[in-house]
Amino acid sequence: MPNQKFFDKKNNHSAVVLHEDSLQPAKKIRFSINTTIIVAVVILCVIAGLFIWLFTLPPKQVEGGYQMPENLVDTTPIPAEVTVTEQPVVESTAAPVDDIPRDEWYLKLVNAENPLPDSYGEQEMTSFGGGFYFDERIIESLEQMMDAAEEDGAELRVISGYRGVNRQTDRHEAEVRAYKNRGYSEEDALALASMEEPSYWECEHSLGLAVDLMDSAHSSTSIAFDETEEFAWLMEHAAEYGFILRYPEDKVEVTGMVYEPWHFRYVGQEQAQKIKESGLCLEEYLAQGQPQA
Ligand SMILES: [Zn+2]
Repeated sequence: MPNQKFFDKKNNHSAVVLHEDSLQPAKKIRFSINTTIIVAVVILCVIAGLFIWLFTLPPKQVEGGYQMPENLVDTTPIPAEVTVTEQPVVESTAAPVDDIPRDEWYLKLVNAENPLPDSYGEQEMTSFGGGFYFDERIIESLEQMMDAAEEDGAELRVISGYRGVNRQTDRHEAEVRAYKNRGYSEEDALALASMEEPSYWECEHSLGLAVDLMDSAHSSTSIAFDETEEFAWLMEHAAEYGFILRYPEDKVEVTGMVYEPWHFRYVGQEQAQKIKESGLCLEEYLAQGQPQA
């Protein structure tokens, strides 16, 4: 039955009367939409359930296939709240930093960045080893070390100790000249020479706490000394007498000095042992726990 259109006189507007059979298609559409939604929700629930089930399963071990090593399987429960705990500070050396007696005479640091004052002139030193001079306070240790080496069959010879102002100035200037003669600029020659023969005020020999040692086969300093049993003896025992290898091969950039297997420095027995154990050079050892320059 077709819908009838009539004029509502009372309300002065048109109205459409809908007959029952014209409502049938709308009902059918609504029913089919509801069914689709229900089916979709059920499917979604099944998929979600499947996912939850899969992810909560323990890792399946496939025979012959890849098995995750036990140490890589993270069995740690996920914490409800992540808390940041403070990690203890790990020291780089066994020696407590505060125990370093930096102001003691035997730990005096002399290098290009820590020169002696201009007023530091010629020093009174004590003779040892036939024509060599040292700070009187290290003579006994040096003597004991040389005696112990001899007893062990290591033939060590002292080849340098304290060097006075004129002596070191001559050595420094000769080295600068040698570099200039090889074509280096004044500036480069000075920089390179200072890594081998520094000026008196930047040289550790000026303290009387450094000794250059060689084996009997060498009459002057030689890198080949580090292949001798005498050098091996020093590396093992020097610290027992308070001496350290002052310019190691792997510390050239820190010390500002070339590798000198012959140059040993007195720092006292206790500090020598600690420095040896730390694997640090004197500059690094003293810089521990100090503000950066
Ligand atoms: Zn030296």
